Amino acid sequence: MGLLEGRFAIVTGAASPRGLGKATARMFTEQGATVAIIDLDEGQAREAAADLGPQHIGMASNVTDKEACLKTVEALLAQWGQIDILVNNAGITQPLKIMDIAPQNYEAVTDVSLRGTLYMSQAVIPHMRARKSGSIINLSSVSAQRGGGIFGGPHYSAAKAGVLGLTKAMARELAPDNIRSNAICPGFIATDITAGKLTEEMRASVLAGIPMGRAGTAEDVAGCALFLASDLSAYCTGTEVDVNGGSLIH
Ligand code: NAD
Repeated sequence: MGLLEGRFAIVTGAASPRGLGKATARMFTEQGATVAIIDLDEGQAREAAADLGPQHIGMASNVTDKEACLKTVEALLAQWGQIDILVNNAGITQPLKIMDIAPQNYEAVTDVSLRGTLYMSQAVIPHMRARKSGSIINLSSVSAQRGGGIFGGPHYSAAKAGVLGLTKAMARELAPDNIRSNAICPGFIATDITAGKLTEEMRASVLAGIPMGRAGTAEDVAGCALFLASDLSAYCTGTEVDVNGGSLIH
C-alpha cells in the first residue's frame, strides 16, 4: 500500500513540467494520493493533472488572490469531501541587486511566496481543523538561510525567510489541532526557474559550492515533500528540511 493511500493533496504552482511541484504531485500519486494541480493557466494546470491520470484535477488559481484561494478549496472540497495535504510550492524569483528592487519587484516576489502561502493555508485550515488532521508543506529556500547567493535577489531571500517564519508560527498555532506545518529549503535544483538564466560561469561557481558536486533534481525535493506529507513524519512540525547537497550545513 502507498504512503498516501486515500489522501487528497493540493500542490500549487505544479503545472511547470520540470518543476518541483509537478515532481511532488507525481510522487504523491505514485503513493496513492489524488492531487489537484493549481497554477495560473487553466490549460496548463489541466494538462499537468491529466498527465498524472484521469482522477487528478487541474485548476487555474492565483495564490495571491484570497477569494480565488477560497473558491479553489471550496470547489475541491465539494468534489473530494476532504483535503489532507497542502503544498505551497508556487514561487517566482528575480536576480536583482538590492538597489534595483522596484516596488513592483518587491510585490511580485513576496506576494507569490509569502502572501500565497498565507492565503492558501487560510483557505484549508478551517477544514483541517474540523477534521483534526492535515499536513502543510511550504517551499522556502536555502536563499532564506544563507542570504541568497545563487540566483534570487534580496527580496526573494526575504520572501523565503518570511515563509520560514510563517511555517513555524503556523506549526505552533495549529499543532493542538493535529495540523503539521513544515518547510523545505531546496538548494540549487535544475528546473525552469533558473533554466537558461545562468551563465556557464555562474553555474560552475554554484556547483563548486556544493559538496555533493551536482545540482539537485526535482525528485530530490519531491521525496522530502512525500516524507513530510505522510505519516512517516507524524511527529515533525515546524521543521526546515534542507535539500541542498551539503551547500549549507548548519
Ligand atoms: P517553476 O518556475 O518551475 O514553477 C513555479 C510555478 O509557479 C510555475 O508553474 C508558475 O506558473 C507558478 N506560479 C507563479 N505564480 C503563481 C501564482 N501567483 N499562483 C499560482 N501559481 C503561480 O519553479 P520551481 O523551480 O519548480 O520552484 C518551485 C518552488 O521551489 C518555488 O517556490 C521556488 O521559489 C522554490 N525553490 C526552487 C529552487 C530551485 O532551485 N529550483 C530552489 C529553492 C526554492
